[in-house]
Amino acid sequence: MTYFVTQPCIDELDLSCVDVCPVDCIHTEEGTDRMVYIDPDECIDCGACEPACPVTAIYAEDDLPDDQAAFAEINVLYFKDKDAARAKVPA
Ligand code: SF4
Ligand code: SF4
Repeated sequence: MTYFVTQPCIDELDLSCVDVCPVDCIHTEEGTDRMVYIDPDECIDCGACEPACPVTAIYAEDDLPDDQAAFAEINVLYFKDKDAARAKVPA
């Protein structure tokens, strides 16, 4: 399992989640990315990031709301092709 970052993070980016992740698997390129992405291969499912997010953007894979399903693909894609993932982030 992993955790996914969803719509409310877009252009919010306060990075509270990055500060609490014990394995530094939440990534973003400041100035380029509009949200953060969790590396599914590095995430240890500790859950620390979920309550740290002030806009409730982070969900465990099993709790991902149906209307946020597209962000599962976007998060995974980011670690294979950053530009392709960025192109799928809604305006
Ligand atoms: S669940 Fe834990 S390891 Fe995974 S991204 Fe959140 S803080 Fe990092
Ligand atoms: S704490 Fe929430 S809004 Fe801030 S960067 Fe992390 S996921 Fe995005």
